[in-house]
Amino acid sequence: MEVIRIPRIMQDTSRGHLLHSRTLGFVPTMGALHEGHMSLMRMSKEENSVTAASIFVNPTQFGPSEDFASYPRKMEADIAKLREADIDILFLPDVSLMYPEGFATLVEVTGLSEKMCGHFRPGHFRGVTTVVAKLLTIVRPSRAYFGQKDFQQTVVIKRMAKDLNLDTEIVVCPTIREYDGLAMSSRNTYLSGEQRAAATVLYRSLCRASDAIKAGTRSGAAVRDMLQQDLSREPLITGIDYASVFIPETLDEADEITGEVVLAIAARMGSTRLIDNMLVVPSFSH
Ligand code: AMP
Repeated sequence: MEVIRIPRIMQDTSRGHLLHSRTLGFVPTMGALHEGHMSLMRMSKEENSVTAASIFVNPTQFGPSEDFASYPRKMEADIAKLREADIDILFLPDVSLMYPEGFATLVEVTGLSEKMCGHFRPGHFRGVTTVVAKLLTIVRPSRAYFGQKDFQQTVVIKRMAKDLNLDTEIVVCPTIREYDGLAMSSRNTYLSGEQRAAATVLYRSLCRASDAIKAGTRSGAAVRDMLQQDLSREPLITGIDYASVFIPETLDEADEITGEVVLAIAARMGSTRLIDNMLVVPSFSH
């Protein structure tokens, strides 16, 4: 595995592969790699001749009171996992090379970035789109892989890629879960044993709401109430940012369920913020 730390060298390496008509798959991450990340790597390896991963804990997507300083950093273990998965390139830039003195350009997808999580994490998606635009310009992959776990992020990034005519196909891969349904996340390591056990309430609530829609529930408010009640019954949930049913393209709440919807939750367990979602296609045989 080639480890590249300098953006210019990453760009030249990528150009070399593209000139030889090799497709380049790219998996951007913030490290502390788990099976969710590795599933994206495997998908990229299946679909491309060369796979590059990046690890960069991007300071600009964390709010001032968020966990940038304490975000898990596990470089040695991560590199071992990437080698084991036979990843060709690891792009590992330093903050000072990504945001050198005088850096002044922001990329913002208006509208979509303010919905859902955007409401509770102002500036978060601007940080994400700015760094992803930079990474895609540096790595210039044929395809870039993102997890459905961060559903809003996939919608915002697809919009950005389209609006900026980026020459990269955005591929969204399914959420990988623990044996009991909890969506894998680097932030799960913040949870105590008790919290970890209770955190399955997110997945259980999503499953129950999905079943209700499949059984014929069409009222968005009824589904929202159901999700919120299920979460409220868990004493270790200390706050619900949102738990509702949304239209996947616009990220607006759905009043009436008339087609595919996304059930999505952002809830707090003490100082840890957990998110999860599920796409549901209602059946219309009722
Ligand atoms: P992160 O390191 O949290 O920025 O995540 C890097 C990429 O991995 C993003 O595209 C995430 O959506 C994706 N990812 C994180 N957790 C999971 C998961 N449980 N299943 C699938 N993809 C995931």
